[in-house]
Amino acid sequence: MKTELTPELNWPEERYRLQWILFDRGYLLGDAEVSGWLWSHDRVVHVLGAEPEGLMLGSWFGQPVAVAEVDEASIKAASIKATRRVALRSALLASPMQQALLARAAQVLRFDRDHRFCSRCGRQLEMLLHELARRCQDCQLDYYPRIHPCVIMLVTQGPLMLLAEGVRFAQPILSCLAGFVEAGETAETAVHREVFEESGLEIANLCYVASQAWPFPHSLMLGFLAEYERGILNPDPAELVRAQWVHPGERHRVAPEGTLARLLIDQHCQRVLGHGYFTQED
Ligand SMILES: [Zn+2]
Repeated sequence: MKTELTPELNWPEERYRLQWILFDRGYLLGDAEVSGWLWSHDRVVHVLGAEPEGLMLGSWFGQPVAVAEVDEASIKAASIKATRRVALRSALLASPMQQALLARAAQVLRFDRDHRFCSRCGRQLEMLLHELARRCQDCQLDYYPRIHPCVIMLVTQGPLMLLAEGVRFAQPILSCLAGFVEAGETAETAVHREVFEESGLEIANLCYVASQAWPFPHSLMLGFLAEYERGILNPDPAELVRAQWVHPGERHRVAPEGTLARLLIDQHCQRVLGHGYFTQED
């Protein structure tokens, strides 16, 4: 199978082939001279004065890519205009082509930072060479990057779609219902449970659509469409500011392009209207 991103741990001997992704405390640093988020190896060595300590991510369209945490202030004064600095979330939304690579980069860096010691005995962990994992030699316990499955679902009733504003949203937009999969639960059960808990509605005819790595901090979003079956809309105030049935022709501020929520909304609108959703801003 050929994919854009192949996880790989071996560093290339021909260093000039290497490309870099640079983070500075949750922000991506981009090379001001190129679009996207990949730096050439020569350019990184030039602006930092040396090759940074980094972690290998794998190959991206056949080219090896590594990630490093750097301090933007340490970039040489002569090259201080070399960078663009963008929050990871904004970069993910603006770079659909590089989304998977950026999500991996952020999660690998977080794994490196947060998994230094054994959570059972406290001993320092050793890096494994053949896979992205660390081992406690006393406990024989291996630690891998954490991935938390979440479900996100668009509930429809004929042409109408159930959209909601979550209490934790940074902005007042409408999006799909979503929640974490509990231990021991299937994704399908989680969809039924979350919809019922958050809206009071029962649903049927689940249809899996797509998934998306969402590194805040380590979610794997599983996207579903589902049809309303019965119940009266009764939003849970602990989770939702509001929830409402929306016709695809109405204009609201909804989840931005690049998110799985928007993909689900656009797919439904495509079926009803023949085109994706037009937001209030369009
Ligand atoms: Zn241990």
